[in-house]
Amino acid sequence: MSVYEKYETVIGLEVHVQLSTLSKAFCSDAVHFGGEPNTHTSVLSLAHPGTLPRLNKKQVEYAVRLGMALGCEINRTNNFDRKNYFYADLPKGYQITQDKTPVCVGGSLKIKITEGVRIINLHHIHMEEDAGKSIHDQDPTVTFIDLNRAGTPLLEIVTMPDLRSGEEVDAFMTAMRQLVRYVGVSDGNMEEGSMRCDVNISVRLKGATEFGTRCEVKNVNSMRFARRAIEFEVKRQIDLIENGGVVQQNTLNFDPATGVTTPLRSKENTHDYRYFPDPDLPPVVLSETFIEKIKHEMPTLPWEMKAILTQKYNLTEYDAALLSDDKETAEQYLAFVESFPTSLFKPSANLFINKFLPTMHAHEKTFVQLMVHRMQWKEMLELIENGKISASAAYMKLYPTILATPSVIVHISEMAEKMNLIQSSDTNFLDNIIKEVIGNNPEKVAEYKKGRKGLVGFFVGEVMKLSKGKAEPKATNVLVLKELEK
Ligand code: ADP
Ligand code: MG
Repeated sequence: MSVYEKYETVIGLEVHVQLSTLSKAFCSDAVHFGGEPNTHTSVLSLAHPGTLPRLNKKQVEYAVRLGMALGCEINRTNNFDRKNYFYADLPKGYQITQDKTPVCVGGSLKIKITEGVRIINLHHIHMEEDAGKSIHDQDPTVTFIDLNRAGTPLLEIVTMPDLRSGEEVDAFMTAMRQLVRYVGVSDGNMEEGSMRCDVNISVRLKGATEFGTRCEVKNVNSMRFARRAIEFEVKRQIDLIENGGVVQQNTLNFDPATGVTTPLRSKENTHDYRYFPDPDLPPVVLSETFIEKIKHEMPTLPWEMKAILTQKYNLTEYDAALLSDDKETAEQYLAFVESFPTSLFKPSANLFINKFLPTMHAHEKTFVQLMVHRMQWKEMLELIENGKISASAAYMKLYPTILATPSVIVHISEMAEKMNLIQSSDTNFLDNIIKEVIGNNPEKVAEYKKGRKGLVGFFVGEVMKLSKGKAEPKATNVLVLKELEK
């Protein structure tokens, strides 16, 4: 057993989610990714003396919505606190956050990993505001400050130390991103920084009951980086312990270029944030009416959507997972099969997964453009179902032809007929071809008669070829067997 296998990894996350509200957390400046630096600012974002914050109601609504989806308890009395520290991109000199009374407490999220399903418990979710951005890479000596982001509403989701691997962190972030998108509180876009996390990592001997000392890797905005940072950090900590050292509780930075974590600051020097209730923001008491309204308007959640697809539409777990991966796709599928007979649910899912999604992803057609041909797709699926055309002929030949047809009046069966795609189960037509195939392959027939029964596939294949794909496979199989057994 390698020394690394003696240890268990323990991880807790602090996930920052940027809310997709129109305006900032405590003033009316626009929340917008990009834009010329320092254009989404006002005297409030710039923290001019005498300006006063005013709470954005949407921020609270979104926090409660996400908390409810995660099964959290909702705190009825919410205080806002000042977290004091100095930084050039924080003009107020403090960040408004929630210290002792986070809006949501507890709750959990189910994640799926190779070994199965795990439940990750949450400690709490609190509301806060983002700082501005310091830009260090545009000039060798000067740091630029962009305050567009200053005051953007964030939720911080703090998990219990329940995660055990990079794979689980990845699964958790993926599930969380899916959820925030489903409930419509954030675009969950990690590349644009709408979702990022601090990863707290420690190791302990397997079977130990106490946790080890943790290090916190700050601001990870890609799952690939998270996995690499965890891998590096776990090895570093184990090597340290194995060599008689002690892990220091540090805040770390991970550099994707080098793959190495380096200390940003140590716990001993941790700033005293001197939290205190913000005197400019009175406590916010959430009424039952407010809570009930949010509960009542809760959109369909990802796991509910998956259950609908497996239970009501009889799809496999696999298909349901693919279709419910994002809400828009699931809703498109539901709109597509609306009022279709049950037998077309599965074929429609296949059409979606194998054709529609790739077509849309390649930006060849929009969903609306695909839906124009809805009744033609239906007819195509019915032709496959009735064995009139093969699925491959439908996908390879009919699909592009229908897409290219401006008129929706065309009947697909006529189109298939013209394209010579209709399969034949006409026995005379088939009998002649079968006789020809058998006549052409006397040695194969002899082998078959000696017991190589598997050769039937060969004969069926030859018949399909000669018929140019028009032989209906089931009927052909029966007739070939009959002929061979004569
Ligand atoms: P602080 O208040 O100092 O930030 P918390 O106890 O709130 O510390 O924990 C912050 C995060 O660190 C949480 O996500 C938690 O799950 C995680 N965490 C706490 N202890 C450990 C540990 N020993 N190993 C890994 N993660 C931990
Ligand atoms: Mg922390």
